[in-house]
Amino acid sequence: MDRHVIIIGSGLGGLTCGYILAKNGYRVSLLEKNAQLGGCLYVFARNGARFETGMHYIGSMEPGQNLHTFFNYLSLLPDVKLHPLDSMAYDVISLSGERFNFANGQEHFIETLAQRFPGERNNLQNYYRIMETVADNSPLYRLRWNNALNLLNPDYIKRSASDFIASTINHPLLQQVVAGNVPLYAGVEGKTSFYIHAFINHFYNQSACRIVGGSAAIARSLVRSIRAMGGSVHASSPVAAIHCNQTQAVGVTLKNGEEIRGDYVISAIHPLRTIELLETPLIRKSYRDRILNLKNTPSNFTVYIQFKKNKRPYLNSNFYHYNGNRVYGCENYTPHDWPKGFLYMHHCPSASPQYAETAVVLSYMNFEEVSRWKGTSVGRRGAGYEDFKRQKAERLLDDLEKQIPGTRADIAQYYTSTPLTYLDYTGTENGSMYGRLRDCSEPVQNVVSQRTRIPNLFLTGQNTNSHGALGVIIGAILTSGELLGVNTIVKQIIKDIS
Ligand SMILES: Cc1cc2nc3c(=O)[nH]c(=O)nc-3n(C[C@H](O)[C@H](O)[C@H](O)COP(=O)(O)OP(=O)(O)OC[C@H]3O[C@@H](n4cnc5c(N)ncnc54)[C@H](O)[C@@H]3O)c2cc1C
Repeated sequence: MDRHVIIIGSGLGGLTCGYILAKNGYRVSLLEKNAQLGGCLYVFARNGARFETGMHYIGSMEPGQNLHTFFNYLSLLPDVKLHPLDSMAYDVISLSGERFNFANGQEHFIETLAQRFPGERNNLQNYYRIMETVADNSPLYRLRWNNALNLLNPDYIKRSASDFIASTINHPLLQQVVAGNVPLYAGVEGKTSFYIHAFINHFYNQSACRIVGGSAAIARSLVRSIRAMGGSVHASSPVAAIHCNQTQAVGVTLKNGEEIRGDYVISAIHPLRTIELLETPLIRKSYRDRILNLKNTPSNFTVYIQFKKNKRPYLNSNFYHYNGNRVYGCENYTPHDWPKGFLYMHHCPSASPQYAETAVVLSYMNFEEVSRWKGTSVGRRGAGYEDFKRQKAERLLDDLEKQIPGTRADIAQYYTSTPLTYLDYTGTENGSMYGRLRDCSEPVQNVVSQRTRIPNLFLTGQNTNSHGALGVIIGAILTSGELLGVNTIVKQIIKDIS
């Protein structure tokens, strides 16, 4: 066949498409602007320590569970070593002066929370049952495709998670608790669909784990496989333009002027960045305007902590803290009340870690805070920027110390990133963590389809289907399915497990 596919961007979306299409006989050329491959899968090293920049933990990785099935198809299982999180407390929600554990599996999840909220046992059962049904019925979650889109009850797409939870659970504190890992999807009260909440919470509730050594193992494995199947993957190759003739895309030009011709182009970058690469009447103004006006999820400020050697015991849970008694709205802050909450996670350095080598503390940050330094380059943003980062980091570390006393004494050094770091590194608009905002009150306006107005130009990545390991892989199956047929890929995945 030897049809040539050019893929822009080496994040999970681009790499997964590259793998699927190379496996199916397409000639793949994958182009990445950065010197490092992987996008949000990138793990950077400083002073002998490793830090994850995007993907920190994944779910549903036990045999028979859905991400395990997809990893099997992508030949990732031999290369990606896992460390299960504490099954009785994979996520700890620190709220209103109390701590609440999310335990894996329906029974433990309900029982753990029902001990604190005994009057809510039936409501918790009802909540879990509906969450499971909605997740199960989302497209490709259970590898059903023919009528997958008809499986989902539209009410759960149009209805916000906060609204649904409030109608299912009575206790106001428990309503907040069950939404306690809301930063995982940057959920907005009244806007984020219950379907997204259900999809993500069910995914992690099945089983939750960290990747030993970090998520870069996923990128390394996929790059190796694509190359082994005859594809090429190029770092330091920013695409400057996508070229079209009168009817379709014909190739790309790199920033260095090199032109590459292809039969198909798949853009695995933020849709706004894709639009900037296109000068063609094939894209109508209405489509362009819609993409330009997409709302995005907020960005974050991160402190990357390196601990003194053998000092800080490894924490096998993710710690979500809120300063008040509400989990929503932390992205709406003032200079005085920032940070309203944070997420704290240890990196898993080895198969059976006793001590943590590194950790991250993340809190929402809006791009406006750093917009005055836009256009400056990494390492040369000036003393004002360094001061800004130091002040923010100290505030975040003060809050962490209040929750987990003694942490500061174990810190050897720390580094930081801001929304500007993400904008410059991945090209995501305003440094947005998960790309476009899914607003259930405007379900149609916010859809970014795999197909574009240009017949052989497709989109993939976290802005299409959904973000995160599972969302991006399913999105890549849908994108590759535009060329191969989704059923063909589903059959291959099922064949690989049988
Ligand atoms: C802070 C943070 C924490 C997260 N935690 C988790 C988690 O714990 N679990 C989970 O499952 N998910 C998590 N996610 C989400 C997950 O990491 C992402 O949804 C996913 O990795 C995005 O993949 P992608 O391919 O869509 O985009 P990206 O990873 O952003 O990749 C896009 C790539 O395109 C490249 N690019 C851009 N422009 C060009 C150009 N012109 N030419 C060539 N290349 C270009 C970029 O450099 C980048 O490498 C997290 C994300 C963030 C930001």
